[in-house]
Amino acid sequence: MNSLISNYIVVVSISGVLNALLALFAYYKKSDFAGIKAFILSSAASAVYIFGFALELSGSTMQEISFWIKVEYLGMPFIAPSGLIMIMYFVGLDRLVGRKLLTVLYSVPCITTVLVWTNDLHHLYYQSMHFREGAPRPLVDVVMGPWYIVQGSMTFGCMLAGMILILWQWNRMKLGYMRQMTTIFIGQFLPALGAFLYLIDSTPYGMDPVPIIMSITSSLYIWAILSRGMLTAAPIARENLFASMRDGVLVVDRADLLVDYNRAATEMLEGLGSPAIGHSLAQLFLPAGAEAVEYVMHSDPLVSGERELAWQRGEETYYYQVRSSPVQNHNREYAGRMIVLIDVTERRLLQEKLLQLATVDSLTGIYNRTHFVERSRGLLEEAKRTRTPLSIILLDIDFFKSINDRYGHQYGDLALQHITAVCGRHLRAGDIFGRYGGEEFVLCLPGISLKDAAMLAEAIRQDIEHSPLYTMSGAIHVTASFGVVEARREYPALEEMLSEADHALYSSKRNGRNAVHLYRGDAIVHFTNNG
Ligand code: GH3
Ligand code: MG
Ligand code: MG
Repeated sequence: MNSLISNYIVVVSISGVLNALLALFAYYKKSDFAGIKAFILSSAASAVYIFGFALELSGSTMQEISFWIKVEYLGMPFIAPSGLIMIMYFVGLDRLVGRKLLTVLYSVPCITTVLVWTNDLHHLYYQSMHFREGAPRPLVDVVMGPWYIVQGSMTFGCMLAGMILILWQWNRMKLGYMRQMTTIFIGQFLPALGAFLYLIDSTPYGMDPVPIIMSITSSLYIWAILSRGMLTAAPIARENLFASMRDGVLVVDRADLLVDYNRAATEMLEGLGSPAIGHSLAQLFLPAGAEAVEYVMHSDPLVSGERELAWQRGEETYYYQVRSSPVQNHNREYAGRMIVLIDVTERRLLQEKLLQLATVDSLTGIYNRTHFVERSRGLLEEAKRTRTPLSIILLDIDFFKSINDRYGHQYGDLALQHITAVCGRHLRAGDIFGRYGGEEFVLCLPGISLKDAAMLAEAIRQDIEHSPLYTMSGAIHVTASFGVVEARREYPALEEMLSEADHALYSSKRNGRNAVHLYRGDAIVHFTNNG
C-alpha cells in the first residue's frame, strides 16, 4: 500500500510539472487567442493545486497536511472559472466576458482562499479535520462547512457551463477546429468526472483522482498546442465573422485548390460545399460562366486585384466584384490567396439603367440627340484619322403636326415608332441612328460617301412613302424630307455638318417635301434615283 501511495505521489508530481510546463508554454507562446490569459491562469492554478496535493500526500503530521491543503487552495478554486472563461473566448462569447462576470467568477475563489487560510478562526470552510482511522497512511477527512458547499457548487457549475457551451457550439465548428474543441472538452470533462466520482466516494481507496487525470489532460493540451496549432485563434469568434459576412470568401492554396469558404460563398457558387475542398478554383468557377473561368486562368495570384465579372447563377446573370489578394505564411512566402466575391448586381443594373436613360430616347429606343452627337463625333474623328468618308442624313417627317391633330398624339407617337422601324431596316452595323428632335431623325454613316448616302436616303424615303402605318383608324400615310451631307476633305466639325444637312433638308421641305437634297459645298441639289 505504501508503495502504491508513493507511486501515486510520483504521478501526481509529474502532473504538477506538466501543468506548470503548460502554463509557461502558453505564456511564452505568441498567441492571438484572446482567451490565452484564462488558459495560463487555469494551468498555473492547476500546477499549484497539484503540487500542494502531492505535498499533502507526503505530509505526516496534521500540521503539515493542513498547511499543504492551504497551499492547494491557492490554486484549486481558480481552475474551473478560468477554464470557463477560456471556453467563452473559444466559442466566441468574448463580449460577455466583462468586469461583472469576472467579479462574480473570481470573488468566490478569492473568498474561499481567504477562508481556508483563516479557517481556524471561523470554521466556515471546514467544520473539522481529522485523521482517517485505520488508514495505512495519514489521510485527512474533513467535515464540510457552509462555504465548502458554495465553492463546490462554483467549481461544478463552471465545469458544467463550459461543457454545455462546447456542446452548444459543436455543430458550428469547422473540421479544423473540431480537434481543438474535442481537446478542450476532454480537458474539462475528465477532471469534472473525476471530481464527481471522488465526491460520491467511488474512487479506489477514496483517493482524489483529479490530479492524475490532470496529467492526462495537460499532456493532451501540450500535444494539441504543438501539433494542432491550438490556441492560435479564437476559432468560433473568427468563424462567426467569416460566416456572417455578406460577401463570399474563398481561400485557396498555392496550387489554387480550395481550402476554405464561407456561407455566403455557397450561395454564390453552385456546387460549393465540403466535398469541393481540394477542387481547383477554375473547376469551382465553371458554373459561373466563361468570364469567371477566364478570370481564374489569367489573374496573377501574386498580385492583389479586382474585377467585375458577369456571373451565372442558374439561369440568371449576376455581377460580382471579384477581389483576389495573396496570403502569406509565417515566413512571408506565398501560401495561397483569398478571393472575395461581392454581389454588385443591383449597382450594375442601376448603372445600366441610368446609362440607358442618359443615352436612349424612351419613345423610340434609339439614341437621344446628346448621345448621337457624342458617338458621331468619335466616328468623325476616326474618319479624319483614317481619311475615310463619313456622311450624315437628317430627316424630318412631313406635316407631322397634322397627324397629331387628325389622329391624336398617341397615333403621333406610333408614327414616330413606325418611322424608327422603317429607318432601322436600312441600317448597317456601325451606323449610328438617333432621334434628333421631335419628329426629326439623324443617321451617321461612317465609310459612306455622299452618293451612297444619297441613295440610302432615297431608299428610306421610298420605303417610308410605301409603308403606311396601319391603325384602327385606318392607314396613315407618312412621308419625310431628307438632307444629306458628306464630310469634306478638311473634315469640318460635326455641328457644321449637321447644320449643312439641315440646310439641305430645308431645301427638300421648300421644294414640296418627300424629297432628298444633298449639300455639296458649292450648292444644294435635289437627288433622284435617276440622276
Ligand atoms: P413640316 O412638314 O414642315 O415638318 O411640318 P410638321 O408639322 O412636321 O412640323 P412642325 O415642326 O410644325 O411640327 C412638329 C410637331 O411634332 C409638333 C409637335 O407637337 C410634334 N411632336 C414633337 N415631338 C412629338 C412626340 O414625341 N410625339 C408626338 N405625338 N408628337 C410630337
Ligand atoms: Mg416635320
Ligand atoms: Mg420638325
